Amino acid sequence: MTGHRPLSRPVTPKKEGQRMKLILRYLRRHLGVFLLSLLFLTMEAMADLLQPTFMSFIVDKGVTSADISTILGYGAIMLGIAAVGAVSAIMRNVFSSRTSQTIGRELRRDIYHNVQQLSLENIDRLQPASIITRITNDVTQIQDFVMSLMRMMVKAPITCVGAIILIIFQTPQQAPVIIGIIGVVSVLISGVIRIGYPRFGAVQRRLDRLNAVAREFLASVRVVKAFNAEEQEAEKFDVASHSLASANTAALRVMATFMPLINLTVNFGIVLLLWISRNQEPERIGRLMASVNYMTQILFAVTMIFNVINNAVRAIASAQRIEEVLNEKPAQAKPVRPLTPEITGAICFENVSFAYAGAGKEALRDINIQIRAGETIGIIGPTGSGKTTLVNLIPRFYDVTEGRLLIDGCDVRDIDEKLLRTAVAVVTQKPLLFTGSIRENLRWGSDTADEMALREAARIACADAFIEKAGSEGAYGYEAMLGQGGVNLSGGQKQRLSLARALVRKPKVLILDDCTSALDAETEAKVLNGLHHLPYKPTVLLISQRISTVMRADRILCMADGTVQGYGSHEELMASCETYRAIYASQIGGEACGS
Ligand code: ADP
Ligand code: MG
Repeated sequence: MTGHRPLSRPVTPKKEGQRMKLILRYLRRHLGVFLLSLLFLTMEAMADLLQPTFMSFIVDKGVTSADISTILGYGAIMLGIAAVGAVSAIMRNVFSSRTSQTIGRELRRDIYHNVQQLSLENIDRLQPASIITRITNDVTQIQDFVMSLMRMMVKAPITCVGAIILIIFQTPQQAPVIIGIIGVVSVLISGVIRIGYPRFGAVQRRLDRLNAVAREFLASVRVVKAFNAEEQEAEKFDVASHSLASANTAALRVMATFMPLINLTVNFGIVLLLWISRNQEPERIGRLMASVNYMTQILFAVTMIFNVINNAVRAIASAQRIEEVLNEKPAQAKPVRPLTPEITGAICFENVSFAYAGAGKEALRDINIQIRAGETIGIIGPTGSGKTTLVNLIPRFYDVTEGRLLIDGCDVRDIDEKLLRTAVAVVTQKPLLFTGSIRENLRWGSDTADEMALREAARIACADAFIEKAGSEGAYGYEAMLGQGGVNLSGGQKQRLSLARALVRKPKVLILDDCTSALDAETEAKVLNGLHHLPYKPTVLLISQRISTVMRADRILCMADGTVQGYGSHEELMASCETYRAIYASQIGGEACGS
């Protein structure tokens, strides 16, 4: 993982409305269902509001005068209202769940789609772990918010306003108490928003960090174990986990402080109501009961507002982070009028320099080399000398920062991207295979390749023998299943399979990034010999640490420190290139090394 550049700037409340925009944009697509669920929500709130009033009628008009028929009459009405309330509640639950799930799905689809358009440079910058958190956790936050919005949004205000109106009508002397209580509660809620808002932003950022640490550990678990670095990694995890916990605590403390205060305020209001009505005549007891009931409903409504706000705060922070991914524009410009040359595989680096985004130093400096179509070029040099970086420029995994890279005389930046990537096949230094059968993995090379082509590619890559023997439980040979990343294969098997996958494509340019390193000398020689006799004669760029591997190439490029040290045949380099001689001496032996 490269250095951490904080992506989420501290949240400033100023642009809140703007951040809500993303959520509104997705909500607008479901406006009909949204309004419908608000309608049901309103009906539910009204039903809840009417219940205490009818209850007070039963008590004041029926119970005090022992009038059974009045009691039954109002009782039946209450039952009817309760039924309407229950049906409304069910409907808004159905609508809100469905809408929030749909919005979640749409968000995930859009983020994923956008990420796929990005170049490696964008992904380096956003960091994979952080993108994963955005697709999962952040989308869930927005989903929860939409759900709570559709379940509660209008209910709380309707309950508050309705309760005030009903109380004013029934017991006007209690109105100031109710209004006063709601006023105090509103002040408390605005306190929560101001203090809680930035804290939830911090929680999200630290969750990101924790994810990054966990991901890094899991990606390199073998190395960690080999170096006995578990303790060190655990320490890193602890720090990240601790900082997440303390951010969470800080955020929850706001809730823990304000919630009891609000509870206290409302309960104080109830006491006040009872105190005002302490000399109530018996036939007004029902109304007093209703008032107390309304206070409880207001408290409940406020709790709901709290939940919505709580969710909104998180959702806004999440929306901002999702927007960052959605707004990330591919760092590589697509050609305006893409060229579609007949690619033969001649490559020319013209004064090429390259620096990774955020890196101070250039990884490649002033590279000038010409490669003829069909030539095999060996590339050698110490680790970190820029070999991988150099070849990654050819399929445009990254773009040059200076100079030009030409294929068949066309700047790669002008060539149609699909055409370019079909013509150039890369076998990466770390073989990457996917969950699925061996056949499916080989077909990544070309989905039109027939069975013969797959077998031929496997044969040249010396993968046929182990493929025949692979598999278990009814799926053998080409049907054998690979685990994620091909975990059930050895390093050498993975390398041969990913080489076969590249050969299936019959590329014009074949880039082999140290992909025979895990093969024994005999198998490697066999593979190299096979590559030499490919009928379609691709240009081959063969990176290796071993001088014996590159020695027989048509020409050899010797790199050190991001620059070309020498370029020519083995004999020419032995005569002219100090670095090459040193590598030769260290691997083959000093006595053959001339002066
Ligand atoms: P080689 O393949 O010869 O071992 P690389 O091309 O992988 O060397 O690396 C060349 C230099 O670029 C090294 O200094 C390395 O640290 C740096 N580098 C490689 N990949 C990245 C990256 N994704 N972001 C930043 N720097 C990188
Ligand atoms: Mg490399």
